[in-house]
Amino acid sequence: MISDYILVVEDDEQIAHFLVASLSAAKHLPKLAKSLEEANKCLAENTPKLMILDLGLPDGDGKDLIQQVRKQYDFPIIVLSARQEEQEKIVALNEGADDYLSKPFNVQELLARINVCLRRTQKMSMRDQCYQYKDLLIDISAGLVKLKDNEIHLSPIEHKLLMLLATKPGKIFSQRQLLSEIWGSEYVDDTHYLRIHMGRLRAKIEKVSSEPEYLLTELG
Ligand code: CA
Repeated sequence: MISDYILVVEDDEQIAHFLVASLSAAKHLPKLAKSLEEANKCLAENTPKLMILDLGLPDGDGKDLIQQVRKQYDFPIIVLSARQEEQEKIVALNEGADDYLSKPFNVQELLARINVCLRRTQKMSMRDQCYQYKDLLIDISAGLVKLKDNEIHLSPIEHKLLMLLATKPGKIFSQRQLLSEIWGSEYVDDTHYLRIHMGRLRAKIEKVSSEPEYLLTELG
């Protein structure tokens, strides 16, 4: 199971403390491991969303952990190392690290790089995302919509509308937001467009259009 924490593997007391404090302040959930052994324990319990890794650890080389992790996991790894040699950096990246920062590092830069890595993984998982709710299956990557295993044919507008709503389940969109996202900002007042296409979409996927299960209208 992938959980929401960032695994920080760092044996230097001061740097570890600073990393944990900075990550917490940036609303991340850091978990500290001070050795390869502790890191392995954390990994066995829960898969992190990202790992920050020091290379010089008391019980071994961080590069071995990269190699080991990559056999099993895809989460991003950012190497943080005092070793200045260009060669170290190349080896770490070749082993499967996603990014590399040399100590001393700028914490704002580290946070920015964490965000870049996380955005990338989010996009990747979005691409193979499927949504299933009751009898409705929406396969974003294949662009398929099925109702009880029967493929539903949607017009391009209906398709865009459904994908937009499906990628944010439970979110309320205003009519203006939907019009602007699908048709463009110059159409925000053309609510009849939305009414017509939403009506057609509901007719295709809802059992009873007047009692929708999937596409709900929130009054006001
Ligand atoms: Ca170290």
